[in-house]
Amino acid sequence: MAFTVVAFLCLVGARNMVNGPATPLAYRLSCALVLALLVMAIPRAGSIWTFGAIGVAYTLVLVAGLALNVSGVEQPLLWVLPAMVVIPICAAPLWLTPTHFFLGSALFYAAAFALLFGEPRTHEVDVVVWMWVVAIGLPTSAVFHFGFYRFRRNHFLLESQLAQLAATDPLTGLQNRRAFVKQAERRLETMAPDLQVSAIFLDIDSFKSLNDRFGHAVGDHALHQVARVLMDGTSADDSVSRIGGEEFAVLLCDGLAGALALAERLRGAIAAIERPDGQLTASFGVAEHRRGESIMVLLDRADEALLRAKHSGRNRVCAERALPLEALHMLFDAAHEEGDTAARRYRWEDYYLTSHFQPLYSLSHQKQVGFEALLRGEQDDGTLVPPVVLFAPRPSSDEGALDRASHAVHLANARKSLPCDAWLFLNILPATFIAEGYADRLATLVRTAGLEPEQVILEILESHGGSVDDMSRAAALYREHGFLIAVDDFGAGQSNLDRLLRIRPDLVKLDGELIRATSHGTEQPILPKLVSLLHQAGMLVVVEGVETTEELILAVESNVDFAQGYLLGRPAAEIAPPEPVQRRIDDAFDVIAQGRAHQYALFESEVEPYRVALRQAADGLLAGVVMGEAFASLATFDRCISCFILDDSGRQIGLEVPGPAWNSEGASLHPVANPRDARWDHRPYFRNAVLLPGVAVASNPYLSLASGRPCVAVTLAVQFASERSVVGVELDWSAVGLPWPAGD
Ligand code: GH3
Ligand code: MG
Ligand code: MG
Repeated sequence: MAFTVVAFLCLVGARNMVNGPATPLAYRLSCALVLALLVMAIPRAGSIWTFGAIGVAYTLVLVAGLALNVSGVEQPLLWVLPAMVVIPICAAPLWLTPTHFFLGSALFYAAAFALLFGEPRTHEVDVVVWMWVVAIGLPTSAVFHFGFYRFRRNHFLLESQLAQLAATDPLTGLQNRRAFVKQAERRLETMAPDLQVSAIFLDIDSFKSLNDRFGHAVGDHALHQVARVLMDGTSADDSVSRIGGEEFAVLLCDGLAGALALAERLRGAIAAIERPDGQLTASFGVAEHRRGESIMVLLDRADEALLRAKHSGRNRVCAERALPLEALHMLFDAAHEEGDTAARRYRWEDYYLTSHFQPLYSLSHQKQVGFEALLRGEQDDGTLVPPVVLFAPRPSSDEGALDRASHAVHLANARKSLPCDAWLFLNILPATFIAEGYADRLATLVRTAGLEPEQVILEILESHGGSVDDMSRAAALYREHGFLIAVDDFGAGQSNLDRLLRIRPDLVKLDGELIRATSHGTEQPILPKLVSLLHQAGMLVVVEGVETTEELILAVESNVDFAQGYLLGRPAAEIAPPEPVQRRIDDAFDVIAQGRAHQYALFESEVEPYRVALRQAADGLLAGVVMGEAFASLATFDRCISCFILDDSGRQIGLEVPGPAWNSEGASLHPVANPRDARWDHRPYFRNAVLLPGVAVASNPYLSLASGRPCVAVTLAVQFASERSVVGVELDWSAVGLPWPAGD
């Protein structure tokens, strides 16, 4: 063909050498250009028909080119006659189908004869023309054409047969994996942005046993039947493929809901197929395409859902797991469509996820300040899924998926259920907390739910999964968004003071057991001191697990900021009115006020005899009586461990005078047992005495270094002639039932 273009260019050149009026060169050259373009298009012809059409177009352009070239010459016949014979021969292979051949030939000769008979001619010339055309041109081109036609046609047929074979699964006649993926890729690339596409992935259940027990022929027949069901159950627009073995895939233009419905129909239809030992069943996974996602990723997500369908018992349809953001949108959409109640639940595997909220009260304000969101699983009929099932590790999914989904569910429900001035406490696993990019995603999620990060307190759960360094770095990211941070279950498992000081949470939630923890021996609660320590570190304190009035009273007494527990409100879907709890907290305050006065009176009456005796001893010392004699009476009192005198710098003067409670064997802290080695002016009992000279002051109970027991010191600052001293008595306060005055 390229040769014809060159020959045509030679003709244009030759015509230029002849004198006489000629068609402008540009027209003739543009014919050469069009011919060249048509030649280049030949390899790109995808079918017999385009191939033939190019041939016909080529011939016509060539005829037009010849006419333009011969116009104006004296003997046009001499110029065109060879071409009249050569052109059909050259172009014949292009007229690939018989239709092309007849059409091309007819057009060619009609054009050529019109041109020829327009010129003056003689009888001899006519004879020569007919002889050339009919005797040489037509037979030669017909032979060329049919020979070539056979050759090219077989070639094309073979090609299309091969393509067909390469795209089809021979057993079922469905598209094979390669063709399916290729077609799906094209569809996804060219689809309109608002169009929804979903994939259904299915795998026949226990297929191996069918093969093993009844032979491969039975297995093949079953595959064939499943393929039939898929073809019958889908529309012409859907792509259906046997992906491999006993796995099939369907790609359809519909959203998740439509795809789930179709999958359910197909599942039912397959379950109606009989196999020798019962019914054939298949498990299904369904996923909806997300914008920009490749077909392989979409199939992977559907496959993940299919795996869950297998693990949860087969012969069922499972939907993909949505990302939190999408889950949230789904919840909101559901709320929009179905009214208020529907938004509470979110489909998850075989059940629904929903939120219960448990109130937290500020004890001083006696009001609900926040709600901890707790995840619950619900069956279709509303019965609760036991937590062991809900939180059981799944082979097919990571723990984080449920954690992230819970945030979406809680946020969607919080928007509806929670008062706008309350905090939402969200539990978060350490692994989720430190996950790359989750701070940003959660902030977006919170805003999508109509809340602000400032309203959300993240409770980092007590569990493995993240170093303290990672967590403190992540905490900074969450803080940038405005989230508040709490550490859950302080006092249990992984939580320790180092973790707390590095993460620096805004709140610390104390493990319920810590309320009940008491100091060894005296059974005094340690909660007040712990709270005071955490306050000093700049953290607010929440106690969880408040179940009894005594625990509530202790929480109030310990200066805890917030409390949570069954006594104040159980987790529930609906928020309970706060009034009864407010009264309860108020009562606790009353009880404490009364108890404090009572304890104070008891304490005073217990230490008063020691005050009196200490003053008498001091009077004796001032009057010049020696130490042993001055303390003789005081040292006989039951609780007296020892009587002592400290100088102005808190160092002991002389030996202490032991009392009945002195017990050197019981001194557990042996290396620090001798009080004479130390200075004691930093102790509150020394400082308080110095602040009130002449007054016998009683300290709060403290742990004695000398005895390792709780003690109370009664001390009195006295001005001797030379210098000021502090005389005192240390009392054993370790017996159970002694009054303890309120803290600092
Ligand atoms: P599950 O319920 O977990 O899917 O179990 P299964 O037995 O269906 O799955 P498994 O993947 O263990 O077995 C698939 C079997 O399918 C193994 C293979 O021999 C059989 N198989 C794969 N291709 C063909 C085929 O073209 N014809 C027949 N008859 N069997 C096939
Ligand atoms: Mg199978
Ligand atoms: Mg399989």
